[in-house]
Amino acid sequence: MSTDGIALARTAAALYGRGWMEGTAGNISVRLPGAETALITASGVSKGSMTAADVVEVRVDDARPVREGGPRPSAETTIHAALYRLSSDVQAVVHAHPPYATAVAILAARRGAGTVPFADLEIIKGLGLPDPSKVVVPVFDNHAHVPRIAGDVTDRLTADAPPVMLIGNHGATTWGPSLDVARNRMECLEALCQLTLLLEKP
Ligand SMILES: [Zn+2]
Repeated sequence: MSTDGIALARTAAALYGRGWMEGTAGNISVRLPGAETALITASGVSKGSMTAADVVEVRVDDARPVREGGPRPSAETTIHAALYRLSSDVQAVVHAHPPYATAVAILAARRGAGTVPFADLEIIKGLGLPDPSKVVVPVFDNHAHVPRIAGDVTDRLTADAPPVMLIGNHGATTWGPSLDVARNRMECLEALCQLTLLLEKP
């Protein structure tokens, strides 16, 4: 078992335990040494019981498995690959459905908003931005054909974009220089969305 696979399984189990990867939802990946491939959670596996064997090595350039005949990679592999192509600094990607971030993504989609701004909240610091006083989080349309979302990511995001995004009516994706940092950023984004909803006046 690879240490990367073990790390993916541990992180997935922790996020599943928080209720952020219900059913078989959620997917996590880490870039492998050499930078041209990544290890991603397999499709259709409960993140509460997955093992280090439930992972697939995929190519960053076309999101396809390196080896045929193994488990299928996550349905959202194309989004992970698009994020890895933004910058070699992107070393891990976490996608989950945390309830508050997902609620904010749904509300943004209903308004037709392409971004959600956050300001003057301490937890913004956790995103590691040059200016921790504010962040404008992009909201992507949730297409049933996932490569369309990945195409939008490539079109809209640059290497210096905030390392978090929302997908309307769906969930959230975060990334960073390590799996732990990408997971921390998901926790920070969820906290930002929770605070925002708690502070919203009825
Ligand atoms: Zn999802």
